[in-house]
Amino acid sequence: MKKIIIVGAGISGLYFANLLEINGNYDYKILEKRSSLDLNDGYGIQLSVNAIKLLNKVGFKNLAVHDVHYPSNINFYKANNCKLISKINISQFNQQGNFYTTLKRSVLIDFLLKNIPRDKIIFNSRIQSIDHERNLKINTLDKSWDADHLIISDGIFSKSKEMILKSSNFIKYYNSVALRATLKNLDINDISLFLGPKFHFVIYPVNQDNEYNFIAIIRDKNANKDDEIFKQKLLESHTENIFSKTSYKLSDKLENISIYPVFVSRDFNIPSNKNIFLTGDALFAFPPSFAQGAAQSIESSYETYENIQGINNNYYENRRIRIKKINSRSEFNYFAFHISNPIFASVRDLSIKYLSNNKSFLNNYLRKIYNNK
Ligand SMILES: Cc1cc2nc3c(=O)[nH]c(=O)nc-3n(C[C@H](O)[C@H](O)[C@H](O)COP(=O)(O)OP(=O)(O)OC[C@H]3O[C@@H](n4cnc5c(N)ncnc54)[C@H](O)[C@@H]3O)c2cc1C
Repeated sequence: MKKIIIVGAGISGLYFANLLEINGNYDYKILEKRSSLDLNDGYGIQLSVNAIKLLNKVGFKNLAVHDVHYPSNINFYKANNCKLISKINISQFNQQGNFYTTLKRSVLIDFLLKNIPRDKIIFNSRIQSIDHERNLKINTLDKSWDADHLIISDGIFSKSKEMILKSSNFIKYYNSVALRATLKNLDINDISLFLGPKFHFVIYPVNQDNEYNFIAIIRDKNANKDDEIFKQKLLESHTENIFSKTSYKLSDKLENISIYPVFVSRDFNIPSNKNIFLTGDALFAFPPSFAQGAAQSIESSYETYENIQGINNNYYENRRIRIKKINSRSEFNYFAFHISNPIFASVRDLSIKYLSNNKSFLNNYLRKIYNNK
């Protein structure tokens, strides 16, 4: 039996383990640095059909319908007066029982965890070094693990990637912060995207219980400080700022508000050892303006699995092409969503009105990503 070590029990690592469980022909372990996984957080995640199609291969369809939501549209609003600019019908990209889905991140993690025997996950694993010149050996504080394949899925701040590539300069601060919160009892069925000067925020349902996710991405060049008092002040000032710039009554609705700086990948890096696969955010982290991070974590794990199975042998080449397409769209969205000049913003709004109903644009901009063409 081939031995596989997976570093990191996030969406990417857990999805990969699900594929191995179904296959049954691999001896694997997941090394996770935390002592447990958070199954209570109420924040949401959007999964487009490309991710759902792959999740359905490991039984995602069996998740209770009550715990997910299937939005039909992305509705674009002006943040200041909440006037609808236009809608994109995203259900047109649904395929054969695979639907664009929103849900709580913890529900997804719980689903992925359920199929993995507990002894496969080694919590509190602190990796000290990785021998990778010839045979693979992963050294933690109290044990060494031999492996035929190493899957590095320990997220954007990947320490394993630094050990393998012998550098530490893989990410950059994206000059923005993310404000996350939960909400209850709204009258929203779709993904609502509010565009303001130098910020946007998104609200969507996460289940059939009238629970919602709120995420705002706000430009801020000076927010990259790891200090709790600073973060608390930042949270208060940005929350107040958003409240003052929209007529949407958020002030009495947002709960569990948190803030963190947004980092993205600088570049695409490939390890020289062919048995090492970087997946998810450890391979490449995108700006959070196209909601593709988790979907790409799942796709990269699936393609890694196909490589290990011998179905494909060009993982990094394929990934490079796909990542380039998604990254350019994420960066373009980020630019367009945050336009502050009122004249340019009017032109942007007219463009959204036109393009949201333009079949060839939608096929090129969204279908290529959602249906992986
Ligand atoms: C604001 C924001 C909103 C987002 N919204 C969406 C969305 O709506 N839709 C979407 O598709 N994506 C979204 N994303 C992106 C998505 O959350 C990430 O791309 C995805 O979670 C990455 O999964 P991962 O498994 O690669 O990494 P992670 O989820 O970060 O998991 C990494 C795991 O590795 C563990 N770990 C870390 N270091 C070590 C170590 N040294 N040793 C062992 N274990 C370690 C961590 O504890 C963690 O469990 C969003 C991202 C942001 C920032």
